[in-house]
Amino acid sequence: MDVGTLLRRGLAVVLLCVALPVVAATANPSEPAAIAALRADQSRTAAQLEAEASRLRAGSQDPKFRAWATLAEAEAANDQEHAEAALAGLDQAIAQADALKLPDLRFEALIRLSTILVNRGRSKETEAVLKQMQAMVEAGDNPRWRAQWLHERGVLERKQGRFEEARSLFLQARSLFHATGDAVAEARELNSIGNLDGRTGRFSDAVAMHGDALAMARKAGDKAETARSLRMLGVLYRNLDDEELASRYLLEALSYVEERNRREAIALHGELIGAFTRLEKLPEAEHHGQQAVRLAELSGSHPNKVNAFTRVAELRLLQGRIDEAEQWVERANASYDHVAVRDKTLVRISRLRVLAARNNTAQALKEADVVLADVRDLGDRILERSLLDLLSELQLRAGDAASAFATRKAHQQLDKELAIDVAARRIALLESSLERERTEAERQLLQRDNDIQALRLNRQRVIAIALLAGLALVLAGAALLYARYRSALRLRNELRASRDALERVANTDALTGLANRYAATRALGERLGRVPEPLTVMLLDLDEFKRINDSHGHQAGDAVLREVATRMRAVLPPGALLGRWGGEEFIAILEGAAGREPGAIAEALRAAVAAAPVPFESKAIPITVSIGVATAFSTDDMDALLAEADEALYRAKNSGRNRVVYGGSPVPAG
Ligand code: GH3
Ligand code: MG
Ligand code: MG
Repeated sequence: MDVGTLLRRGLAVVLLCVALPVVAATANPSEPAAIAALRADQSRTAAQLEAEASRLRAGSQDPKFRAWATLAEAEAANDQEHAEAALAGLDQAIAQADALKLPDLRFEALIRLSTILVNRGRSKETEAVLKQMQAMVEAGDNPRWRAQWLHERGVLERKQGRFEEARSLFLQARSLFHATGDAVAEARELNSIGNLDGRTGRFSDAVAMHGDALAMARKAGDKAETARSLRMLGVLYRNLDDEELASRYLLEALSYVEERNRREAIALHGELIGAFTRLEKLPEAEHHGQQAVRLAELSGSHPNKVNAFTRVAELRLLQGRIDEAEQWVERANASYDHVAVRDKTLVRISRLRVLAARNNTAQALKEADVVLADVRDLGDRILERSLLDLLSELQLRAGDAASAFATRKAHQQLDKELAIDVAARRIALLESSLERERTEAERQLLQRDNDIQALRLNRQRVIAIALLAGLALVLAGAALLYARYRSALRLRNELRASRDALERVANTDALTGLANRYAATRALGERLGRVPEPLTVMLLDLDEFKRINDSHGHQAGDAVLREVATRMRAVLPPGALLGRWGGEEFIAILEGAAGREPGAIAEALRAAVAAAPVPFESKAIPITVSIGVATAFSTDDMDALLAEADEALYRAKNSGRNRVVYGGSPVPAG
């Protein structure tokens, strides 16, 4: 991920964090945040929340805050099925909203009012509330209000058995919620639509609706709507006689039910009694029966009670405990006047089953005809199917084979119609599983794309690493080579130094530090062939040196040799070479001695040697030198030149020593 993407994502997160509370706050502009949080809280029991709302209301001086707290309190009361307290609270909230001019509070209260009234079968009052909502919806331009109003109208239509009208209203509400981006509300509408589809035998549509609702609720993280979606799927599969799958959905739904949502828990336990009864898992059925009854009695609404009690009644019938079954039907019947048409029908079917179980066939038949007419009116194909089953059995028992046959035929016809939809459902399920497979394949393709991308990045990384490693290797190699070069250089220098030292040793006379005979001969040879100018060679032999050795010792002789060498060296011009020719004999080679005659130089040498006795220990040793000089003008014959110089030296010795003899004729000293 590059830096730009990171920044953009970070910015999006920040914006979202800033925007979310704003969105939550603007749903109802005048609603205090503390109240909104309390109303959204599902984790505590309704009783706890009611007490909390009451405490908040009492603790505030702000009339607006108190008005909203009143609404929250009423809602919590309603969740505990304290309908009258809830209705009174809502009326109060509406009055306060009017006084304080808080239309959002007023609308919220009206929604709740409508829900409570419609669930208690108080259609007339519900209609009046809906009229008030309509006036507000039409006066303003609030799509959320319009959607909620459409939903409440849908619920009323459904309760009155007008399924098609209800379905159309839920569809409209759904598209409005979709447009406002309220996923949880949209999921609720999908569940409402699916519920109607299921009851009217359109199973494939119902599966699709609840499936979508489940996905949306899960994505939005809304536990209540997730539980409702799962319950509806469970109920649907129960109607499709797949009690096994149904019970799994219902149990999963139960795991999403929170403290506050007792109604959902009661409904789920009720369905689970039925599912486990049909699966003949009676201990499980019994367990859920006890839970349903406990919760319904604790704080159940009339529809909750009807649901729980009629189901327990059916369980008791299956167990052959007819008396107990009848008692449960009686208890359900106590709520008869407080519930809507469908729940009324449930009570009557249960009563019918008890009559049939008691073999009170005539009475049962009379009732069954009426109930069947009502159920057909209601358009509930599921209830109709189970009723036809019972009716044909009763007719057969009554000896009315013709009617029994006709009823069975009708049952079969209905089964066929429903079976068509079962087939359609299977196709829909197949399609959805195909869709899942397609999505999975797409996901895998995408994954592969990502993998390839990752591989590419990886390859680039590997190449970069390889390049760096290569570079490092090259550098290391270079460093190694350089080190080797340095050490070779050092070795070479050392070698050179030692060679130079060797050469020096080989060419130097150890006693005097002058060139030895070998070096002098070589230098003379080189210069003879190369130098165009005249070359002068002088042979210098110390006079009567043996006597010095004899008189003063060999060491004194050595000291004299060193001193003489120094004196002569100092006199010679810079380009001249002085060497020790052997014993007490020296050689001087001068090239191009322009400006000073070789004779003069030889004389200067002689004079320097003789200038003063050489001091040695406490003695002064006089010394002189005889010199033979020869100059070559064009020859390169070294032997001839040396012979000429030697001959001159011989003559110098013979003519009295301490003198220079040049070119064959003696040159006088001084
Ligand atoms: P002349 O004047 O005829 O040259 O007499 P001389 O004594 O110098 O000549 P001779 O050749 O008879 O003697 C040379 C002596 O030099 C012999 C030798 O002992 C001595 N000598 C040669 N090399 C060395 C040396 O390195 N050190 C010392 N102390 N004496 C040396
Ligand atoms: Mg000699
Ligand atoms: Mg000598």
